[in-house]
Amino acid sequence: MKIQNIRVHVLECPLETPFAFSQGWVKSRSATLLEITTDNGITGWGEAFSQGLEPPQIAAAAIEFALKPELLGRNPLDTEVLWHELYNKTRDFGRTGSVMSAISGVDMALWDIAGQFLQQPVAQLLGGYFRSHVQPYATGFYRIDGQGECDRLAEEAIQHRENGFSLMKVKLGFGVDDDVEVMHAIASALQGTEVRLMVDTNHAYGRHDALALGEAIEEFDLLWYEEPVVPEDKGGYRELKEKLVMPIAGGENEHSAYGFRDWFSNNALDIAQPDLGSCGGFSAARHIVAMAQAHGVRVNPHVWGSAVAQAASLQLLAALPVTNHNLFANQPVLEFDTSSHPFRTELVEHPITRDNNLVKISTKPGLGINVNRDVIEKFRVN
Ligand code: CA
Repeated sequence: MKIQNIRVHVLECPLETPFAFSQGWVKSRSATLLEITTDNGITGWGEAFSQGLEPPQIAAAAIEFALKPELLGRNPLDTEVLWHELYNKTRDFGRTGSVMSAISGVDMALWDIAGQFLQQPVAQLLGGYFRSHVQPYATGFYRIDGQGECDRLAEEAIQHRENGFSLMKVKLGFGVDDDVEVMHAIASALQGTEVRLMVDTNHAYGRHDALALGEAIEEFDLLWYEEPVVPEDKGGYRELKEKLVMPIAGGENEHSAYGFRDWFSNNALDIAQPDLGSCGGFSAARHIVAMAQAHGVRVNPHVWGSAVAQAASLQLLAALPVTNHNLFANQPVLEFDTSSHPFRTELVEHPITRDNNLVKISTKPGLGINVNRDVIEKFRVN
């Protein structure tokens, strides 16, 4: 089997109502998808993660100009070999950011091909299913005005609860005082329910404010505190980890085993959150998960991409061992973004759904998706 062609699809869809997270306003949805076709008629799909503020064309150019020439004519089952070749080839201008997202998308598509070729789901190729279902958590609580939105956010919490979610992640990072007010409003709206909350500031603060916020919201018994400071400040993560009781999470903006090594060796994380679309794909995720396990760090993948990335993330979640085993160990949970996103709901034939507050993990070959090409054409920008 040989790789015959690689096509990159850049998608964009303007949002009716722009929303903010702490780093900026998101005005459109975008995605960098790629399909790899083989000489025996298999098509594998992958996605290079496009952060809310990241132009999807950057990863697309990396795939087209830097990776594709290395891949044409190669055996797509050589996932590990090709990963190292692509990483070595791009080392001097890559290692992180959009170039690693490009490698991630390629690797994802290669595993999809391997699964279809062997008629096995990717989770099986990764070693099997530790779980058949995963509990989703609602990611939401984005801002429409920026500050002073306590009442609307408390309403949103009630809405998620009524929609059956028992885990929710609140976006913070809009000023410590505003953040604390928001948390009080949400906690009070959810009083008497069994809902558990996490928070995510998207590295909004320096150490001082991050600690002040952490101390002020510790009473809410949070499942984790995500990206409290910038990813460059691993000492800051470690300091917060030592001073706060709640678990400290991060890693969506980190890449490869080389990047995660520095977090683990600095004892900077309780929960590592690699994103399959930017950490380096399944091949890199395997390296990262093994290293996290050896350091006693939990792994809970991040996912904010389209239906392709979601399907891939579910396969990884199936095959993810629990780091600290006991009969009632913490299981990984699925990030389930509740904001409007046609690339999640329309792009594949069977988008993920929740049944009794659980998401079933596909057992179909590869990633288990059928991509709707009409949707690609509808939102294509290249
Ligand atoms: Ca996040």
